[in-house]
Amino acid sequence: MPLPSPSALFSLQGRRALVTGAGRGIGRAIALGLAGAGAQVALVARSASELDEVAARVREGGSPGRTAATPGVVTVPADLADTAALEDLAETVSRRLGGVIDVVVHAAGVQARGRATELTDADFARVLTVNLTAPWRLSTEVARRQLAAGVGGSHVMVASMLAVTSRPEVSPYVASKTGLLGTVRALSTEWAPHGIRVNALAPGYVATALTSPMFEQPDWRQETLRRVPLGRFGQPEDLVGPALLLASDAGSYITGHLLTVDGGWTSS
Ligand code: NAP
Repeated sequence: MPLPSPSALFSLQGRRALVTGAGRGIGRAIALGLAGAGAQVALVARSASELDEVAARVREGGSPGRTAATPGVVTVPADLADTAALEDLAETVSRRLGGVIDVVVHAAGVQARGRATELTDADFARVLTVNLTAPWRLSTEVARRQLAAGVGGSHVMVASMLAVTSRPEVSPYVASKTGLLGTVRALSTEWAPHGIRVNALAPGYVATALTSPMFEQPDWRQETLRRVPLGRFGQPEDLVGPALLLASDAGSYITGHLLTVDGGWTSS
């Protein structure tokens, strides 16, 4: 087998990618990264204005995925909690990007903080629906089209180090991310014979809207930072390289894997 060039390995030229949670934080950074590597990207979240801002950034970057026949970037505002609508969402994205989706990154996620004794069934269900049911259903709809077309693909779930550890007062979130890791194992096994890879990223502590309640507490920041061997918190951009590895041919022999991107937190 000839040795491919590093730039060819990580290139997403000609690929169609769907990124959920693409309006801000980690999903936004990953969407910009995939577009920069040449993918046409479909940006999904509820806030249309945030998606528009990201789409504008993609276009400013030159939209390398754009050709005379392709759009480069599209925004598809949607509420992933409406899981019955996810089949339509996969279809809409395929149609607007002009063919079968090659890469899907599930970065949308929500949190419900509080003691388990005080959280309700509704809190638990909301977190499980967005963090677990939606990625499973949407990936399944994307894979259905990949299987029918006889093409491979890469599915990347943004899990958490709380898929393999725990903290107090985030029990629905821990349950959802642990379930997501099981989903990665199950789907990667089921779809590997068809060249469809399924992996997960486990970010450490990254300052975003999701984590602002913790980052606003100086004591929490100081105590947590002491446990991060690399000595700093993560930034959304730290997830771009790992996402590219899993999405591109650079990761062609990686499936069923949880890639921690946490400054060493999980292993310390
Ligand atoms: P964030 O800044 O709050 O971004 C979350 C994204 O998900 C937003 O674009 C949000 O857009 C979208 N979203 C939430 N609910 C949605 C729904 N019902 N339908 C459609 N989109 C929805 O959070 P983040 O920190 O970047 O988190 C991204 C992922 O990383 C999550 O899965 C999170 O669990 C995971 N993670 C984060 C950290 C961290 O330290 N930040 C650590 C480990 C794992 P709308 O609100 O406009 O819909």
